[in-house]
Amino acid sequence: MDQHPLLAPLNEAQRAAVAAAPGPVLVLAGAGSGKTRVLTHRAAWLILEHGLAPQGLLAVTFTNKAAAEMRGRIETLLGIPGSALWIGTFHGIAHRLLRRHWREAGLPQTFRIQDEDDQQRLVRRIIREQQLDEQRWPPREVTGFINRQKDEGRRPPQLEDRGDPTRRQLIRIYELYQQRCNQQGLVDFAELLLRAFEVLRDQPQLGAHYRSRFRHLLVDEFQDTNTIQYQWLRLLATDGGAPFVVGDDDQSIYRWRGARVENMQQFRRDFAAQVFRLEQNYRSTAVILGAANAVIAKNRDRMGKELWTAAAGGEPIRVYAAFNERDEAEFVLERIREHQRSGEPLAACAILYRSNAQSRAFEEALMAARIPYRVYGGLRFFERAEIKDALAYLRLTQAPADDTAFERIVNLPVRGIGAATLEQLRAVARQREQSLWDAVETLAPELPARAANALRGFRALIARITAGIAGLELHEQIRLAIEASGLREHYAREKENRGEARLENLEELVSAAEGFAPDDDEGLPPLAAFLAHATLESGEAQASAGLDSVQLMTLHSAKGLEFPTVFIVGLEEGLFPSEQAAADADRLPEERRLCYVGITRAMRRLYLTHAESRRIYGRTGYRDPSRFLAELPQQALTEVRPRISVSRPLATDPGRPIVRPDTRAWAAPAVSPRRSHSARPVPGEDTPMPLGARVRHPKFGEGTILRFEGNGDSRQVHVNFERAGQKWLMFSLARLEQL
Ligand code: ATP
Ligand code: MG
Repeated sequence: MDQHPLLAPLNEAQRAAVAAAPGPVLVLAGAGSGKTRVLTHRAAWLILEHGLAPQGLLAVTFTNKAAAEMRGRIETLLGIPGSALWIGTFHGIAHRLLRRHWREAGLPQTFRIQDEDDQQRLVRRIIREQQLDEQRWPPREVTGFINRQKDEGRRPPQLEDRGDPTRRQLIRIYELYQQRCNQQGLVDFAELLLRAFEVLRDQPQLGAHYRSRFRHLLVDEFQDTNTIQYQWLRLLATDGGAPFVVGDDDQSIYRWRGARVENMQQFRRDFAAQVFRLEQNYRSTAVILGAANAVIAKNRDRMGKELWTAAAGGEPIRVYAAFNERDEAEFVLERIREHQRSGEPLAACAILYRSNAQSRAFEEALMAARIPYRVYGGLRFFERAEIKDALAYLRLTQAPADDTAFERIVNLPVRGIGAATLEQLRAVARQREQSLWDAVETLAPELPARAANALRGFRALIARITAGIAGLELHEQIRLAIEASGLREHYAREKENRGEARLENLEELVSAAEGFAPDDDEGLPPLAAFLAHATLESGEAQASAGLDSVQLMTLHSAKGLEFPTVFIVGLEEGLFPSEQAAADADRLPEERRLCYVGITRAMRRLYLTHAESRRIYGRTGYRDPSRFLAELPQQALTEVRPRISVSRPLATDPGRPIVRPDTRAWAAPAVSPRRSHSARPVPGEDTPMPLGARVRHPKFGEGTILRFEGNGDSRQVHVNFERAGQKWLMFSLARLEQL
């Protein structure tokens, strides 16, 4: 048969999907079976074979990194510049739409994106203004509530309190928060999606325009779409649009953020989609694939897929039991050196972990060994304190009414503006419904001269910077703000390495600005475009992008990627699976899918490590090896080094789980011993109710307190309810009554 060159590098099943007649298509297939490849080829196929204009295509991926990759692949396949294509994350595309149609969306042209951290600060301010108790209304939880509503497409008027006073209060805070955002022209991440959806829905002409423009919508990683994203798709695909979506239910790992794996089945029904399955894995060796299949087989309610590979055998999976986290990092470092000596690039090695906090030990080891590395996600470059400080100065020059920026830097570096003055300022702003910036002039005449001068001095400083940056190149604007604000001097005085690292980061900000190319389509001035970019950018393009370097990231951010050599580290109960998942049967399947995602990133070599003792979150804990290790086919594993016997500060009994003597006394009888020794507060530490206390919950009834985790806002309580079973609850919201 005559083979179209686009179809040549595909197998039979992939070809069928790529060349399917235009219409709704669902590709349901396991990891590494070529879903992303099929999606990319489909885009090219539609353009080449069906004469689709590249502008008629909308492709959605999960991360900026994946978007860049798809853009690059389409460029190579078609030889056209990828910039003409609408490819991006849902958030990136929503942002683009809102920039184009800010008027219709009811936003100021200069609207600013607010990241999660700033969002939480604003929520906290509102909680305080309402004189609510932060212990009872933890800003993090409340922010979570607001975002969940937005992800579900709900505005405050559509929410019912169902006679529940807690819910009524949450709805009220949501309402106030949204008012505040609207006043200040702030858009949070969830708002990007919801606003963009609403503007397409409520402006019939716009909706019709985009519906006829984007006849073809391609979505990768479809299993992790949430409600509003699905509604988006439905909205754009009415009137005969043809969505082409690919996904794997076994890789759904964002349920905690509102993802609905059910969208796959629903899509199939709603669109009467043609379904294609791909069964051949091209990524991994048979050993690795076998291990992945064995782990995921423990989950129930799967859509069911076969996955096989033509690659026979492969190296065994190596398991290393480290003594502690430093030993674990040393082990990984040694293996990386070996690979490096055998001529493998550093970028072929990825270190994947469950929690961002784990990266530090690896970063330290790599730094000491002078091996370049990149951390994806984590504390992203633009989220670092010093970077946000510098950007806050620039934000104020753009929008003096930006209260979050104002609060952040009004007294940084210290300029004699005390907490009491600020409190007064906030009160005036509240009464007069003014921004903090405007409130300065209202309040100043009533203040003692020193305080008034300090506040006015701050306004004058911002005015000087605003005037100073006019007409400068973007990177010069940033340099000027860093100097004139006094931030450089401030950090230069900070002791030891920290100040130095911060100064380096500020320098890095200037270089980032130098290399910044604004998206012409958004039509923003460079500084405004750069500020928007800084909020949206998830640190995926660090400065050393071109340099060959070891890749570090969480398991979550590794989705869709592949590496010849993968280290999954920290395979311990209470870490991976996480503490909450280990204790909650409802959360375990998602954790197992995450393990499946991790294993299937590996092409040739896989290392799994765990540590007997680990210092993390400021505490040392002793944990058992993860249950996921036991779920792997044992014949595929090799223990790298037999456990050396070390004297541990613990009473251990071979064959029995390690139990910390000091925990035994207070572990409630309902807890199985294997879970009773992970890192947790030491008994006698301040807990709001005694462990083992009997309590009553309004919904779950009576139960026993098993443990507490965290403090203050984030304190959680684990309760064994007689009827409802074991639950983790936010203590401040749980309304437990001690019996
Ligand atoms: P994931 O579920 O992890 O997102 P995926 O299903 O999207 O994986 P791809 O990333 O598209 O899989 O492909 C996995 C690897 O297999 C890639 O390196 C890809 O180039 C290669 N591959 C896919 N199809 C073929 C094929 N027909 N022939 C050779 N290699 C292929
Ligand atoms: Mg993929």
